[in-house]
Amino acid sequence: MADDTIFGKILRGEIPCDEVYSDEQCLAFRDVAPQAPVHVLVIPLKPIESLRSSAAEDAALLGHLLLIAARVAKQEGLDDFRTVINSGAGAGQTVFHLHVHVIGGRPLEWPPG
Ligand code: AMP
Repeated sequence: MADDTIFGKILRGEIPCDEVYSDEQCLAFRDVAPQAPVHVLVIPLKPIESLRSSAAEDAALLGHLLLIAARVAKQEGLDDFRTVINSGAGAGQTVFHLHVHVIGGRPLEWPPG
């Protein structure tokens, strides 16, 4: 599947990122427009467009992304943090390659906008 998103370009090394973690299934890097002192994105190497288009075969990968989100939060010194997955433009998704936001380092309000 072609991955013409900006994250596809990062995965192919065509544009740089500020990497904080990588393994054989995923990459984590700092968000270019951080919404908090810590704002990291965890993305699968597999080009899944969105959580809503993931499939049963992705179950282990989705679990892995969450475990790595927690690992990255700990690595960044966070006890409290928020994980966000926006699915669809109406929910704020702007890059159509699945990603988990890991946000923390300041008090976080609930509910979000
Ligand atoms: P979303 O709006 O949930 O699709 O999140 C996309 C995120 O990607 C936004 O928080 C952007 O700031 C971030 N972003 C876009 N381009 C880059 C980039 N080249 N490097 C790092 N983060 C990016």
